[in-house]
Parts: sequence; structure tokens; C-alpha cells
Amino acid sequence: MTVDLRDSAEEAGFRAAVRAWLATAVADYGPPPPAGDWPARRAYDTGWQRVLHDAGYAGLAWPGEYGGQGLPVTQQLVYLEEYAAAGAPYIGVNFVGLMHAGPTLIAEGTDEQRREHLPRILRGGAVWCQGFSEPQAGSDLASLRTRAVRQGDEYVVSGQKIWSTRAQVADYCELLVRTDPDAPKHKGITWLILDMHQPGVEVRPMRTIDGESHFCEVFLDEARVPVTNRVGAENDGWRVTNVTLRFERGTAFAQHIITLRTQVRRLVTAAKTSRTATGTAWDDPGLRRHVGRLDATVEALWRMTQLCIGEADQSGVPSPLGSAIKLRFSELAQEMSALSLRLAGRRAIGAGPGNGSSNGNGAPIDDATAEVVRDYLWSFQHTIAAGTSQIQRDLIAERILGVPKGR
Ligand SMILES: Cc1cc2nc3c(=O)[nH]c(=O)nc-3n(C[C@H](O)[C@H](O)[C@H](O)COP(=O)(O)OP(=O)(O)OC[C@H]3O[C@@H](n4cnc5c(N)ncnc54)[C@H](O)[C@@H]3O)c2cc1C
Repeated sequence: MTVDLRDSAEEAGFRAAVRAWLATAVADYGPPPPAGDWPARRAYDTGWQRVLHDAGYAGLAWPGEYGGQGLPVTQQLVYLEEYAAAGAPYIGVNFVGLMHAGPTLIAEGTDEQRREHLPRILRGGAVWCQGFSEPQAGSDLASLRTRAVRQGDEYVVSGQKIWSTRAQVADYCELLVRTDPDAPKHKGITWLILDMHQPGVEVRPMRTIDGESHFCEVFLDEARVPVTNRVGAENDGWRVTNVTLRFERGTAFAQHIITLRTQVRRLVTAAKTSRTATGTAWDDPGLRRHVGRLDATVEALWRMTQLCIGEADQSGVPSPLGSAIKLRFSELAQEMSALSLRLAGRRAIGAGPGNGSSNGNGAPIDDATAEVVRDYLWSFQHTIAAGTSQIQRDLIAERILGVPKGR
């Protein structure tokens, strides 16, 4: 069977329209606020989402009845490529809502839940976070202990979540709770929609190695969740969780992966401008081979992502292939950050924009180098977030290769 990866006439027309629109819209919208100012980041990210929505570019894969565009998968992929090439704003605080909470509601929610939440997510009107992990339940997520006790038409929820990304600016949380403490651990879990703006929900941001607060602890003390906010049946939450995780690992990173193309180009520029005793770093054939291999890997990974998005489009939920994509993306992103840091060389030591530090030769550290250092520090998270690499390898072995489950 041959596959023609070139654009059809219709796709080429769509590509040209998206490219032209982005060229103006991205320039008009302007740069993001400083890192770490989360209220400003929320305003920036949701404002941009509103711009996309009003121009008809929100929810390309989502059904029209909930505000989406219902476009064919080929056009969704064209859009992602053009979006990355234009350097358009990062999805930011909209990540959970757009990439896995919304898709979970489309696959598993009630019509009422879809009508209430999906159009708001698409308009940038509601920000979601994820409350899955707990201090004693990360890789072994099914060990979670946060309790929900049913009282009439509500669940009363108490417990602690951790690593909830951007929970400090979230309106809703996709929350996993234990509803049957006596059942085997995978059988007593329920998936709830938690309103973050209520008594009994306390969010405490955590400081990370790059000096920012990307994620938070969330303490729940008799928080109330209407039974109508339950997604799937009571105690059937593990099945729903796996739907969420397949979106999170399989299709959610598409934008990040296609953006690696731009990062490869940046690496080339950095190498060509990085002076050595005899010329530039780009003169080194070993480095050029390394960048060439990275470039080929990005393209291969993008093809796998396209396949996964295509599968999700056909069956409603991505396949376990997502674990292979997530694993390779994580390692590749770390490798690229490490190479960027290597090219920055001594300039990276003691980096911090505008803080008057020096590189040891008296030259101040510029913002671009500071960004390289920040990116390198942040890159450690890739192989942990959304399930560690060890867990992805287990899943690939069991669910793709059919290796018998380990003890
Ligand atoms: C940037 C970032 C953002 C995150 N955002 C969120 C969020 O928004 N919401 C949320 O709920 N969670 C979030 N997380 C949490 C993330 O899902 C967990 O950190 C991850 O699942 C690992 O759990 P843990 O940290 O408890 O590590 P542990 O599970 O304690 O693992 C420690 C080490 O043991 C290894 N290990 C554990 N079990 C096995 C096994 N069976 N086989 C082989 N090796 C094993 C792991 O691979 C790891 O190396 C985020 C994490 C990061 C880094």
C-alpha cells in the first residue's frame, strides 16, 4: 500500500488560509507575559484561545454541536504544522481542558456535561487542571486515597492531590477519588468534575528547580461535588481514567512534538553562531550528524503522532501507541535541551536575564541563553510527567508487544 503524504488541493487551500491568518493574528496578539506571573499567563492564554475560537480555529476535531469544527483529521494535522511554524502561542493553561478533559467528556461524559463544559473550554472561558497524583500514588495511581462519600445528591471529598499543573489558576479539576475503600484498588475509583472555587479546596503552589511554580498541592477538606458531575459510573473511574491517559499520552503532545521542528532549526542557528577556536560549532561533522539524526527522529515521531491522531479520529480514543510516542518525545526533548545547553557553553553558567551575572569573560548573560538554561532545567520533567518512562516501557511491553504482565 502506498501513502501519499502530500497535500490534496483542498488541504493546500486550507494550509494557505491558516498560514495567512496566523501571520497576522500572532503578530497582533504579541508576546507572552513574564514567566511565573500566573494570573497574567492565564489572561494571555485564555485570551488567545478566544481569538482562535472567534476565528473558527478552536476544537478542530470536536463535534460542531459543542462548538467544535468537526474537521477531517488531515486538516487538523495541517493546522498543527502551520501553528508550530508560525510560532503561535503555547497552549498553556488551556492544555488540560483542550487536550484531555474535554476529549474525555466527549468520549465518556453526559450530554449535559458536554453542553456545560465543552463550549466554555473552547472559548477560553474555563481553565482545567488534573487531580490524579497523590503523595503515595504516582506511578501506582490506582493506590489513590482521596475519599468521596456520597451524601444525597453530592459527594463529600477529603484528601490531598499533588503535582496538579497550574491548579492555582484553574476553575475545574478532573478529580480521581476513592468511592469504595473495600473493593480491589482498581475497582473503587470514580472520576469527578470538581469546581475549584468552593470552600474546602486549598491550592498551594510548589516551587520548582527553575524558580517557578508550575504545579501545586491541592488539599480537599469536605469539598462538595454534585453527583451530576460524575463522569462514568460510580467505581468505574479506572476505565475512564485510562481514556483520559490515552488522550494525555497519545494526542495531547502533538503540538509539542511538531514544535520540535522549530527547535531543530534553532539548534542549527545556535551551532552556526557559536564560535570555536577555529570557526563555529557547525564545522564539527559529529555535531552535524547529531543534529541530522535529531531532525530525522522528529519527523519519524511526527508521523507516529499523525497515525495516533488518525486512530483517535476513527475510534474515538487513541490506542496504546501513545505510550511509545510519549516515551520517545520525552527523551528527544531532553536530548535537544542538553545539546542547546552544550552549544551555549560557558555563557550558561550562572544564567539569569538582566541580573548582571557574567559568563566568566565579562559579557552579560542574554535572555536567549537564560531561556536555554531554563528549558534545560525544565526538561528533567519530560520523563516523569504524564507517566514516567519506566511506566511507558511497561505499557509498551504489555499492551503493544503482548508481553505477559510482570509480577
Ligand atoms: C511537570 C509535571 C507535571 C505534572 N502534572 C500533573 C498534573 O497536572 N496532575 C497530576 O495528577 N499529576 C501530575 N504530575 C505527576 C506525575 O504524573 C507523576 O509524577 C508521575 O506519574 C510519577 O509519579 P511519582 O512522582 O509519584 O513517582 P513514583 O511513582 O514514586 O516513581 C519513582 C520512580 O520509580 C519508578 N517506578 C515506579 N513504579 C515502577 C514500576 N512499576 N516499574 C518500574 N519503575 C517504576 C518510576 O519510573 C520513577 O523513576 C506531574 C508531574 C510532572 C513532573
